[in-house]
Amino acid sequence: MLIRASLKGTRRVFSLVVLTVLLQASAPAQRNIAGAVRTQLALERLGVVGNVLMIGAHPDDENTGLLAYLARGRHVRVAYLAATRGEGGQNLIGSEQGEMLGLIRTQELLAARRVDGAEQFFTRAIDFGFSKTAEEALTKWDRETVLADIVWTIRRFRPDVIVIQHTGTPADGHGHHQAVGILGREAFSAAADKSRFPEQLRWVEPWQARRMLGRGGGAGASGQVAIDTGDFDPMLGFSYSEIAGMSRSMHKSQGMGAPEQRGAARGYLSYVAGEPAKSDIFDGIDTTWNRLPGGSAVGKTLDEAIRTFQPEQPEKTIPLLAKARPLIAAIPGPQAAIKLKELDETIALCAGLWLDATTDRHAVVPGDSLQVNIESINRSRAALGIAGVNLEGISGEGWLAEQPLSLSYNEPFRRSLKVTVPIGQSYSQPYYLQKPSSGNTYVVDDQEMIGLAETPAVLRARFQIQIDSITISLERPVIRRYVDRVEGETSRPLVVVPPVAVSIPEPALIFPDVKAKTVEALVRSNIAAAAGDLRLAAPAGWTVQPTSAPFKIANADEQATLTFSVTPPPGATRGELQAVAKVNGRDISSNMEVIAYTGYPIQTVFPPSSARLARADIKNLARKIGYIMGAGDEVPRALRQLGCEVTLLGSEDLTGGDFSRFDAIVAGVRAYNVREGGTFVVQYNVADRRSPALQDVGPYPIQVGSDRVSVEEAPVTFLDPKHPLLSAPNKISADDFQGWVQERGLNFASQWDAKYEAVFESHDPNEKPLNGGTLFARFGKGVYIFSAYSWFRQLPAGVPGAFRIFANFLSASKSVAQPPR
Ligand SMILES: [Zn+2]
Repeated sequence: MLIRASLKGTRRVFSLVVLTVLLQASAPAQRNIAGAVRTQLALERLGVVGNVLMIGAHPDDENTGLLAYLARGRHVRVAYLAATRGEGGQNLIGSEQGEMLGLIRTQELLAARRVDGAEQFFTRAIDFGFSKTAEEALTKWDRETVLADIVWTIRRFRPDVIVIQHTGTPADGHGHHQAVGILGREAFSAAADKSRFPEQLRWVEPWQARRMLGRGGGAGASGQVAIDTGDFDPMLGFSYSEIAGMSRSMHKSQGMGAPEQRGAARGYLSYVAGEPAKSDIFDGIDTTWNRLPGGSAVGKTLDEAIRTFQPEQPEKTIPLLAKARPLIAAIPGPQAAIKLKELDETIALCAGLWLDATTDRHAVVPGDSLQVNIESINRSRAALGIAGVNLEGISGEGWLAEQPLSLSYNEPFRRSLKVTVPIGQSYSQPYYLQKPSSGNTYVVDDQEMIGLAETPAVLRARFQIQIDSITISLERPVIRRYVDRVEGETSRPLVVVPPVAVSIPEPALIFPDVKAKTVEALVRSNIAAAAGDLRLAAPAGWTVQPTSAPFKIANADEQATLTFSVTPPPGATRGELQAVAKVNGRDISSNMEVIAYTGYPIQTVFPPSSARLARADIKNLARKIGYIMGAGDEVPRALRQLGCEVTLLGSEDLTGGDFSRFDAIVAGVRAYNVREGGTFVVQYNVADRRSPALQDVGPYPIQVGSDRVSVEEAPVTFLDPKHPLLSAPNKISADDFQGWVQERGLNFASQWDAKYEAVFESHDPNEKPLNGGTLFARFGKGVYIFSAYSWFRQLPAGVPGAFRIFANFLSASKSVAQPPR
């Protein structure tokens, strides 16, 4: 952050351009590997029995080239286990932060996996932001919970080979990487030990992977396996490195657009644990059906199916697949069960079988009835019949034929089924968000959900298809299918929603004095003719008037705004205010948010309807603030909480605007500008330090560096306790650095001109002191302050001390005595 007054001379505009470019970058279309190629790949995959699990800390730590090579080239089952969903990162595509960002990253990973062909799992760990040491990460996460989840995923997925993306040493950098490197190694043997996490053995058996490999060091190192992901796959029409680039470019919220590389791309995997490999990742591991009891007959039949496959008449392969089915069904164990599902889907591909289950709306409320339209089309000459359709997830009408009805070529079979959603049906909240998290770990009661990327569809149709003497079983989610004028035919998941959603638009309510504030609450209806009462539940000592207010909303998607007067207690305190609607005798205390970006299905999520409350004495002399927006910036609304009038400044204002009307100007995160007159604020700056903007960040030279203080409890000392910035208008003390979230700050100044005074010192445990977090200089008629402390996190989180310090910054040009000129 920079505060500056009376800066004469230069006037520049930079910074926001970067973001615009990112937003406009066109999305690479998701390539569907279609038709005969898709069927042939499914057949090849059926013939291989082998699993590889890759483990990393975050979305983007995976080696997408290796995933694509293994899944698409070697036809094995591959998965990426990311310890976290990336909740703590920056968001380049919107304002979502924290859990909402985790939800976006989850979908981006699933989109990436649809490209590279791997599966996706997670642990319950939450990405709490940058951490420098494994120790911090393993303390902030529940170590045993994260280890348990890695063990659980290994036991359920049963990998032959585990690839760990981190070394578990400081060489990994990020503390999350180090911690996952350590836990992954521990899990390799713990998964095989029946005395570890025995409660899991109700569902899974202990599992010992054959070997664990890590990132390689380069050619020549001993025990390494070389893999060339640059190999071109003529069937796909791409090299695995090209596919990796497409996959990686799905990480849009991180701005990870990646090149689709062509040509040789040799990489290495190093030995970590288990049986060493000599030349291939699967050395000594039988990846044929022979490894399963009774599997050799299956292998022979599938080999013949692959050998005799005719792309123009794929249905001719069905009899061989039908022959293999009872043989696979007779093999015990989870591996064969998964292969059986793959086989049924492959038969459907060979028959061009279209199975669909749709509704005419995407949302239902508990108690509602719903019509599900079933459609089945045999788009081949194979003799198929439909024997029945059941709805799963929510019980409804099923349909069962006395005799299978034959599905003749291209003749749609249609039925309508009815479902009544039980009154007690829970809303379609992602499973890991159903309960409040415990520290930095999600709370999930249902063991079988743990590890899954997302909650299975709430309503699913199961089709029983008859082929000669066998019946295959195929599941499809119930969705709404519709045509978007821009996107064309599209679909969205069916969700169960409350009749109304309630929210307090202001995420943090700050009371700088004892005066009552007017607080708005919103009720948004999901149904027609919604009526009920709304109240605001406040902690003891706070008063809310009226105690409840009635609402009536005529149509779905309309909303009502209700206002309440909230009076704080006299002393400093923090708490939570929750909006609660009562409709038909039931309390509803959740909001509803819809997240719609291209590349993955529309997500519906139900955040709590609460706002943070903070009462603290905060004096602020600056009333009129000009604000230059940064990326995903929530600071302006926080400043309005102090009674400031905040004007957002666009590039036109910046080049030719009149700033004399402002008491202070604030530049948001990653926005930087220089202006004349008033007070000027810039929060921490653009990632690209070569930017000319950052070489000229202040009126006197400042070098912005990369030092950060990632422990939010790190002590902060006042370098000059008598500094005016610490005394007026608010007397700042160590208390004001209590209750901070995520971090102290980042991108501190590394060098600065002697005309600056450093205000605070802070540093992470066992590191050198850092004075470059906040710099102060008098300049012309005003003052200039650079501060890289993370106000952009503290203010929206309602941290009272952060407001008191920030108010001193904003007030500086008025409160700080002018030096003699
Ligand atoms: Zn990472």
